Amino acid sequence: MYSSPIQNLIDEFNKLPGIGPKTSERFVFYLLKKPKEEVEKFIWAIKCLREKITLCSQCFNFSEKNPCFTCANPKRNHSMICVVAEPQDIAVLEKTKEYQGVYFVLGGLLNSIRGITPEKLRIKQLIKKISLRQPPVKEIILALNPNLEGESTVLYLTKLLKTREIKITRLAQGLPMGSELEYADEVTLSNALKGRREV
Ligand SMILES: [Zn+2]
Repeated sequence: MYSSPIQNLIDEFNKLPGIGPKTSERFVFYLLKKPKEEVEKFIWAIKCLREKITLCSQCFNFSEKNPCFTCANPKRNHSMICVVAEPQDIAVLEKTKEYQGVYFVLGGLLNSIRGITPEKLRIKQLIKKISLRQPPVKEIILALNPNLEGESTVLYLTKLLKTREIKITRLAQGLPMGSELEYADEVTLSNALKGRREV
């Protein structure tokens, strides 16, 4: 058993996604061997992250400003909304330099086994954003993960939005099934965006 300052930090690292107890231990001992200034830098970076980053109230992406740079940009096409599951997906789509519209972060994907029901996602907020019609939304691109959760979310949203006079499209096939958008390469994603089809 380690002394409590060591064990406490091991427990904190252990809470991070994809990090097990062994890796947590390695992190802690790595930090213990580092000069104090370097550890201070690390603490400072975490502190700044929580103090400076907020949620954009229009697209729900993390941002230093509200509205975020994309939502506040008059050069972006505000009648086109690309719906993504997580903020990280926006970063990959932006890298393709293909997309000129705005975004909307759902905050996850439907998953009945894990209890992620429509109420747990920002579906109400999405409907509200569309209903505002300022400007009127002409196209909604569903850029969701090509896996089971992504598919059921696409089905649910299509059914829900189909009655409105909005073109609903989804990314073209080409992204490997079962994969996550976050890890897609720019060329594949750019092609999937260009070849998007109506649902
Ligand atoms: Zn925004």
